[in-house]
Amino acid sequence: MALIVQKYGGTSVGTAERIKNVAKRVAKWKAAGHQLVVVVSAMSGETNRLLALAKEIQADPDPRELDVVASTGEQVTIGLLAMALMDLGLKARSYTGAQVKVLTDAAFTKARIVSIDESPIRKDLAAGTVVVVAGFQGVDEDGNITTLGRGGSDTSAVAVAAALKSDECQIYTDVDGVYTTDPRVVPEARRLKTVTFEEMLEMASLGSKVLQIRAVEFAGKYKVRLRVLSSFEDEGEGTLITFEEDEKMEQAVISGIAFNRDEAKITVMGVPDRPGIAYGILGPIGEANIDVDMIIQNAGVDGMTDLSFTVHRNEYLKAMDVLNKQVKAHIKATDIRGDNKICKVSIVGVGMRTHAGIASKTFRTLAEEGINIQMISTSEIKISVVIDEKYMELAVRALHRAFGLDQPN
Ligand code: ASP
Ligand code: MG
Repeated sequence: MALIVQKYGGTSVGTAERIKNVAKRVAKWKAAGHQLVVVVSAMSGETNRLLALAKEIQADPDPRELDVVASTGEQVTIGLLAMALMDLGLKARSYTGAQVKVLTDAAFTKARIVSIDESPIRKDLAAGTVVVVAGFQGVDEDGNITTLGRGGSDTSAVAVAAALKSDECQIYTDVDGVYTTDPRVVPEARRLKTVTFEEMLEMASLGSKVLQIRAVEFAGKYKVRLRVLSSFEDEGEGTLITFEEDEKMEQAVISGIAFNRDEAKITVMGVPDRPGIAYGILGPIGEANIDVDMIIQNAGVDGMTDLSFTVHRNEYLKAMDVLNKQVKAHIKATDIRGDNKICKVSIVGVGMRTHAGIASKTFRTLAEEGINIQMISTSEIKISVVIDEKYMELAVRALHRAFGLDQPN
């Protein structure tokens, strides 16, 4: 007998019919002799609807009240799922975040979990009851309802799994696992049987939407065995997120290719090549609360240089404004140029640590396709390049092929 935490996302509980299907799947695991805790999201589209509704009332909604509203979606699905389970003859009981209780800090709309009181859940499990817990929500010290940020149910599930020291946390979603890249871009993309936590973290931060990044961090920290599976298929082992120590099953050097169009590039041209210039440019950007991702500065010629960096595309105009108003004259830049038609393509793999030549293979592959690389950044297990957005799909396909990711291994 194992203690299993299952999490079902919005599409998996999107209709009454689908909720009944989730109940059937849970019943199957229960019949196999396991103890089950099920964490659910709101029905798909519901959280968006609630947030939009709040905005109709108040342009900049009060954060505490916004969480009161946003958290209701999950309260609906826990009740419905508990009913569906009862209908199948199981004992079931739902809990809101406050009832469990999932204690968080008081940062409304992006709260962090502090602790989970797992004793009521344990009591129910011991009595053979399936426990259904609302994802995405918690309660602060003063009893205020909080939410964990978009996609937060993944984190709820992992946190519950960690608190219960469960044998496995299964994330059921609309894809059947983690893929080498997005199959909509590369039809040959393969499901990975395993991926390491580090790789998953990189992929999540680089644009893969399969798991909320905080859930992965949490699972890594508390060594929760995490698996991504499809809620629309009956069989299938999904993708297991492993700790590197046990990761000898899949030997590929590169595990996946992530990409995103969320960034924009800004170049500050003709600035003096002397101490304080990077600070003079990026200081005001930081003060404006704009996150910077990649940065490059060229070697100076005649004491002058250019500095380029990327920001989130949503903050591009704001960043340009800061530079033009506060920076340009101050540091005597000759020009400020922006480009919001770029994308970032990244290859990720722990195998990079022990294999040479990955970077040169990446650059050669892009060169052969005639794709100009505008910026490069690397970490121990990742190489990212910024290229023109119109070449994104071509680059992803070419790299996917070059690294043999379409070949089963
Ligand atoms: N319902 C929340 C959202 O849409 C949480 C989740 O689905 O994980 O962001
Ligand atoms: Mg989700």
